[in-house]
Parts: sequence; structure tokens; C-alpha cells
Amino acid sequence: MANPTTEPACIALIVAAGRGTRLGGPVPKQYRDLGGAPVLRRTLELFVAHPRIDAIRVVTGADDDAHYNAATAGLALLPPVVGGATRQASVLNGLESLEAQQPAAVLIHDAARPFAAADLIDRLIAALDQAPGAIAAVPVVDTLWRAADGALEELVPRDGLWRAQTPQAFRYADILAAHRKVAGRALTDDAAVLRAAGGMVAVVEAAEANFKITTETDLTRAQAQRFLANADLRVGTGFDVHRFGPGDGLWLCGIKLPFDQSFIGHSDADVAIHALVDAILGALGDGDIGSHFPPSDVRWKGAASSQFLRHAVGRVAARGGVIRHVDVTIVCELPKIGPHRAALRASLAQLLGVPETRVSVKATTTEKLGFTGRGEGVAVQAAATIALPFESSFV
Ligand code: MG
Repeated sequence: MANPTTEPACIALIVAAGRGTRLGGPVPKQYRDLGGAPVLRRTLELFVAHPRIDAIRVVTGADDDAHYNAATAGLALLPPVVGGATRQASVLNGLESLEAQQPAAVLIHDAARPFAAADLIDRLIAALDQAPGAIAAVPVVDTLWRAADGALEELVPRDGLWRAQTPQAFRYADILAAHRKVAGRALTDDAAVLRAAGGMVAVVEAAEANFKITTETDLTRAQAQRFLANADLRVGTGFDVHRFGPGDGLWLCGIKLPFDQSFIGHSDADVAIHALVDAILGALGDGDIGSHFPPSDVRWKGAASSQFLRHAVGRVAARGGVIRHVDVTIVCELPKIGPHRAALRASLAQLLGVPETRVSVKATTTEKLGFTGRGEGVAVQAAATIALPFESSFV
């Protein structure tokens, strides 16, 4: 019996087991690049940042481990499970794998739909109060004709017609029971599965933007949609200083460098991360590191600054934005940054969840002038370029 206080309320099941054969090429469509990250990662970002989603599991293809690991590095996900021969079999595998968690609700979503909206997730979950299932769908607006041999035959009334999308939300126990019951019958989506088992499914209006990437043309459309959707470009800057004190190493960019002193500070005093967090928060217009993590709060005493950076990254994702680039300049005589520069850059890229090509770590001295020149501490200057959804430029 699950403990109600620890029971996950809602788990997202992302179906990424397809081969994407219509798109061709050696890489399945969910792992193709969409604006600097794989489609799957773009899809996951929304769910990772959504406050109503307690956990996420991806159903993968049997041979996709390397693609999956690269696409999901640094994201907090349940371990993936391997799918079956059909989408329906893959979803059943995913649902069976959540038996231990017994979530109240599950959102089943295609990996190749990277444009679902946060409010759509909210409305789907809310609809489960009234029905055991609820699907995202768009009303049909085009005139529908049935045709044969190149000629129109019959007008199809479009009244009441909807095109199904995902996410499709279900009370977990109901959809698991339904999938088990109809296993072996080929049904087109999970809503059809629940209905075949006698369950009612509500319809929740979604946006055309939440389309599924199937063809090469779709991928091009997705690139354009993503670029235009994040047209509110902002640059933020941050600056921080920490003084050396007694200790045995320096936290910098999320890793501990060997040194005969440490930085003095309330947290681990990772001066580079502090400057970078302020740069990201600055681009968001969202206060500074002190307002999010007050030094007066004992929770942050000795805290790993990597969690501050993850928080800032989460604030960007929660606004539907992306980090385009960061640039960090470390100002000091000691330690020598050069030998560690590649590791510092890799660490920041991993914490930010962006490719290393979008992270710059530089170092300079002040020619022995001032406090850094005297070896009393380290200063860091950072800049972050982020892209927010276009709507944000008007609020
Ligand atoms: Mg600081």
C-alpha cells in the first residue's frame, strides 16, 4: 500500500521507442537535433520543469541507449524501460514498469511532440477529476472530403470532429487495466484503449503548435517554430568575488580544484557559479542569487552551488525559455586556470544542460594589481544569453 504522503501524484510516460522510419537516416526522429538539443530533450524539458509532474519515465527503443544517454544527460528521470514491437506494446511496458510507484495519474506523451504547453498539462490533469481519461486534441477546421481515384466522392461533416494529439492523461489504475485487457488488439492511441475497455475520455482543446514530428518537412517546421517561439533574446551579466581562507581546495564551476586554501562563503562559495546564476537571473529580470538563496538561511550553509545553478536553469525552463550561451571570465593570479579550463567548461555545460559549444570559460589576471593580483581571492564576471518565448516581450 503506497503511503499517500509520498505517493507520486502524476508521472509522465514519454514514448520514444519508435524508429521514425518516415524520416529516414540512421538516427530515430526523437534524437534528431532541434535547435541545439535532441527532440527528446526538448520534449522532456517541459515535463521536467512542470510543477505537477512528479516523475518522468521514457520508453526507449532496444538499440537506443547511446542516443538516450546523450539526450538526457543531467535530467532527473526515472531509469528508462525498453518498449515493445508496437507503440501500444511500448506504452503497456511503460505502464507495467510504474506498478511500484502506483501514481494517481499518468500522462502519456509522444517524444516527437516537443511543443506541448504547460497549461495544457494543467488542464489535462484537471480533467481527470471528471473522467478517467482526457486527451489533447484540436478541432477540425478544414472541410473534409472522402476521395477515390483522384476525385471527390463524399463530403464528411466536420462537426464534432477532433484530431487527437498527446499528452493523453489517465487515472493510472484505469489505463493499466485497460491496456492489459485489450493487449493484442491493435488500437490507434491510448484513448482508444481506455474506451475499448469501457472508460470515458474527455477532450481538452490544444494548440496546432503541438504537432508531431514525422517527416523531414515537420522537422524543418519545428526548427522554425522553435526559433520564432523564442525570439525574446536577453543578455544578463553577473559578478562575484570570494576571498581565500583556510581549507583544502576551491569549488569552481561545480568541481573542486586542488589548492592549499578554500573560498570563504556561506555555501561552498563557488564564485563562478554565483556569477553565472546572477547572469541568468539578470537575463530573466528575476532578482539575484541572494534573493533566491538568502545567506541568512541556514539551509544554504555549505550548500553545493550546483543546486543554485540548476534552480536558475529551472527558472528559464519554467518560462519556456532556453539558454543560448554563457561566457564566464575568471579573474585571478592563482590557481592557474589553464590546466583545468576544459574540465570547468564541461562541468558547466553538464549543469546547464547545454552542449559545450555553448559554454565559454576564460581566465585572466589583473597584472598583479588589486586583491586578485595580491592573491587574496578570485573575481568572476559572467554573461548569459537566453531566449524566452516571444509573448514575454510584452509582459
Ligand atoms: Mg558569492
